[in-house]
Amino acid sequence: MLKDKVVLITGASGGIGKAIAKKFAEAQAKVALNDIAPTEEALKSFSQEIGGKYFLADVSKFEEVEKMVENIQKEFGRLDVLVNNAGITQDRTLAKMTKEEWQKVIDIDLTGVFNCTKVALPLIIANQGKIISISSLVGQRGNFGQTNYAAAKAGIIGFTKALSKEVGRFGVTVNAIAPGFIETRLTENLPPELKETIKKFTPLGRFGKPEEVASLIFFLASEEASFITGAVINIDGGLPL
Ligand code: NAD
Repeated sequence: MLKDKVVLITGASGGIGKAIAKKFAEAQAKVALNDIAPTEEALKSFSQEIGGKYFLADVSKFEEVEKMVENIQKEFGRLDVLVNNAGITQDRTLAKMTKEEWQKVIDIDLTGVFNCTKVALPLIIANQGKIISISSLVGQRGNFGQTNYAAAKAGIIGFTKALSKEVGRFGVTVNAIAPGFIETRLTENLPPELKETIKKFTPLGRFGKPEEVASLIFFLASEEASFITGAVINIDGGLPL
């Protein structure tokens, strides 16, 4: 159903981003992969591997995002699905957190979603397309040492719900997903004791896999999810809120 649809995935050099890109490429969608310049080599070889095109841009910089979307339009002539996946963490308790650590996470994780969605919206509206953003369980329940990340991810939920009300009349759906703990480099350096505790409290007893997150994104991007908008779907192995 997504054959020939044009899908932009931000942060596509990362664990979840790559899995999402692969899933869409397998369905013969046209995949536009975004990430930042330091990842160019990896992004280039990955995009060749899956038959996509890559577009470097820092999602926190509005002008770079404008250029990226302009280039995507030149390359593909349209855009149907935006997956706001790029994100970082800079963990520290609030007592020790610097203004820079606060700002950087807000700029990339929340303003990045604003920038990409704002710039891509006219193209998405033209195709009655879909916007899917990756929030986090942490945006719903908070987490020690992550006030910046929790605020940004909670912001994505409010943004999603508000935008869904604005663009429903154009046939555009806007949804967020809230993953729990997924096996990527974002979680690989968690202390081993903490990993064990998380698994203990997760009914399914393990971390999720990027491919499992990709399946949910793929569903939300498909016509199977045509009546879902303004939703936040948890994918967390049952870890309680
Ligand atoms: P990851 O670190 O593997 O991937 C994130 C990607 O975003 C990287 O490739 C990075 O280069 C890119 N990125 C960083 N800053 C960017 C910028 N300014 N512009 C463009 N790209 C940028 O992490 P991941 O686990 O794959 O995370 C993907 C998304 O899922 C993030 O939004 C993250 O917050 C969210 N998430 C992850 C988990 C988890 O457990 N891994 C849980 C909940 C939510």
